[in-house]
Amino acid sequence: MKPIIACANIVKTFVNGDVKTTVLKGLSFTVFPGEFLAITGPSGSGKSTLMHILGVLDSPTSGQYQLEQNDVSKMTDNQLAEIRSKRIGFVFQAFNLLPRISVLRNVELPLMYAGVPRAKRPSITHRALQKAGIDDPTHYHKRSNQLSGGQIQRVAIARALVNDPAILLADEPTGNLDQKTGQVVLETFQKLNDSGRTIILITHDQYVAEHATRIIKLRDGCIIEDSANKRSAEERIKTRL
Ligand code: ADP
Ligand code: MG
Repeated sequence: MKPIIACANIVKTFVNGDVKTTVLKGLSFTVFPGEFLAITGPSGSGKSTLMHILGVLDSPTSGQYQLEQNDVSKMTDNQLAEIRSKRIGFVFQAFNLLPRISVLRNVELPLMYAGVPRAKRPSITHRALQKAGIDDPTHYHKRSNQLSGGQIQRVAIARALVNDPAILLADEPTGNLDQKTGQVVLETFQKLNDSGRTIILITHDQYVAEHATRIIKLRDGCIIEDSANKRSAEERIKTRL
């Protein structure tokens, strides 16, 4: 099997005036299709910076990033936009749903941007909502301020899934949720992974990271550990938050 992600010596340096900060200091790792990877580390260790690079929202200062065997640095803006829209689904801590439109419209929007014909959108939208664990249609016409935090995050997961991306990238997806709701969101990730989806879960919380099958630990912009989580699926799901 070929890696879905291959990073070789990724460096990211931010420049603000005379001040240069190297936030990622030469990261190398590969991810294979179907992995459930957690990237963890304390606040400021470079997790979100790495997520932006993996999601092609930002580019590395040096090093090579290959996504599905393609060198990202050689892609045109159109190709990058296509990847963001169709190959990668994003879930963020702060949900990022549009507050004034319904659940259905929020989940449907990426389909519209990807040019999926109007007639095909409802069935795809419903399927994504079901996969994300929102199967009660009474929620579909609500706006996000009429939903609980856990429901909102599941709508955000549905939106991230709607274009059937190869990779789901989640940055602190449980950060704004209470324990129980966070647990439900992590169970949703486990189910998506069971059906073969590649998941990259970014978290500062080791208990959240313990839900993944592989854990990469970052410290101060370096990988200090990259190891398999040997516990069974059942044990991982039961990890208390
Ligand atoms: P984490 O997500 O692990 O908390 P980040 O990737 O957000 O860490 O940030 C890592 C470090 O990079 C922090 O010290 C942060 O201040 C710094 N950083 C992030 N973005 C920028 C930027 N645009 N300019 C300068 N420094 C930045
Ligand atoms: Mg962060």
